[in-house]
Order: sequence, then C-alpha cells, then structure tokens
Amino acid sequence: MQERQTKQKAIIYERLKALDHPTATEVYTSMQKDYPSISRATVFRVLGGLAARGKAREIRVAGTDVRYDYNVENHYHAHCRDCGRVADVFLSSTEGIGNDAKVMNGFTVDGYTVEFFGRCKACSSAVKQEKR
Ligand SMILES: [Zn+2]
Ligand SMILES: [Zn+2]
Repeated sequence: MQERQTKQKAIIYERLKALDHPTATEVYTSMQKDYPSISRATVFRVLGGLAARGKAREIRVAGTDVRYDYNVENHYHAHCRDCGRVADVFLSSTEGIGNDAKVMNGFTVDGYTVEFFGRCKACSSAVKQEKR
C-alpha cells in the first residue's frame, strides 16, 4: 500500500510539471486515460500535500479554482480574466515594496503577493477576431 501511494504521488507530481498551472481537476482529467485507477480524491489529496510541504505552490484567486504550480521559485502570475489561465511573470526587482509598506503604517511586513490580471494570448486574439 505504502509503495503504491509513493508511486501515485510521483505520477501526479510529473503530471503537475507537464501541465501549465493546472487545477486539481485538470490534473485528474489528464491522468484518467493513462491511470484510471487513481481517484479524484487522491489527486486532490496529493496536490494539497505537495503544497503543504512546499513542493508546489497553490495559486488562489477569488472566484476561481485553486491552481497548482510545481515551480516554487520566486515568481509572480498573470491571470487571464476570460479563461482563467495563469502565466508566469518574472520581475527584475520587487525590492523595497515590503519596506515601503512598513514605513507607511508601522506594520511589519514579512511577505506579500503581486498578481497581474489581463487577457492571455489566445483570448486577446479571439477578441480581435470578434471585432472584425
Ligand atoms: Zn485566456
Ligand atoms: Zn508559476
């Protein structure tokens, strides 16, 4: 049993890496054909466990499903308002943001998030085509 669980975890982690910021449902759906024995509950549990152990990141935006990112390096995300897709954003420097907040209200900042919103490439070209 233990061995099987370890194997399932590895399979789910590989699938997470192959997909682009997927939701748990997307991971599960993509695995059904190859691994029909892995249940939806297992996928949710394993992804939650990876996030809890710092092996994956949970991306939460109000009103959308939680997405997972295997890349736990420091980076930010751009969210598509139309399809919900998430793209990576790399900033050269966000140094000072935390310090500015501290100066303004005496609050000691030990973390922050930066989120970008807009339209992904596929959705922007769909909009352009509609306008034609
Ligand atoms: Zn989109
Ligand atoms: Zn990312």
